[in-house]
Amino acid sequence: MLIGVIAIQGDVSEHVDALIRALEERGQSADIVTIKHKGIVPGCDALILPGGESTTLGRLLIREGIADEIRQLHLSGKPIMGTCAGLILLAKEGDEQVKKTHQHLLGIMDTTVNRNAFGRQRESFETELELPFLNSPYTAVFIRAPGIVGCGKDVTVLAKMDGKVIAAEQGNILALAFHPELTFDTRVHQYFLNKLF
Ligand code: GLN
Repeated sequence: MLIGVIAIQGDVSEHVDALIRALEERGQSADIVTIKHKGIVPGCDALILPGGESTTLGRLLIREGIADEIRQLHLSGKPIMGTCAGLILLAKEGDEQVKKTHQHLLGIMDTTVNRNAFGRQRESFETELELPFLNSPYTAVFIRAPGIVGCGKDVTVLAKMDGKVIAAEQGNILALAFHPELTFDTRVHQYFLNKLF
């Protein structure tokens, strides 16, 4: 098994560490590769799109020729997880800010995103959420977080906060507005790995 982490920008090593911890906990092994260039995504069995700055990430994914590879990977049914900026990039549609800046979206998830849904008031915060899909309370870290404000019929809402969707899935795609890689709780990565193993 090969799990790719897009490493163009953002919290890459934190995702790699979280994956290593999650794999250890479940007693399974997989190779993890960080991806900066074209040619690696097609060999991956699962992929993570970390948080960062979605405009920059989108631009570089196109420039490096990785965006099309991600779309192909999705078409082949491989699990993909996007966190924070990753959630934005997965979306089909964006809010006014996304449209105005002609920000590139991968468009593989039938969602409409608000790019800075929670971030304006408070740059970053930590809060305890009831996340039924993880079976218990969960401490989530939000950093200039986006939110999903529209979902197509194939999207399952996993959690909401302040009326906006902060966790959702569509088939093998998992999108989170918060940063599961920034806490020691591996339940989100475990949930994602369940799609692979
Ligand atoms: N809202 C940010 C953006 O638009 C994403 C923030 C994050 O990934 N921490 O790119």
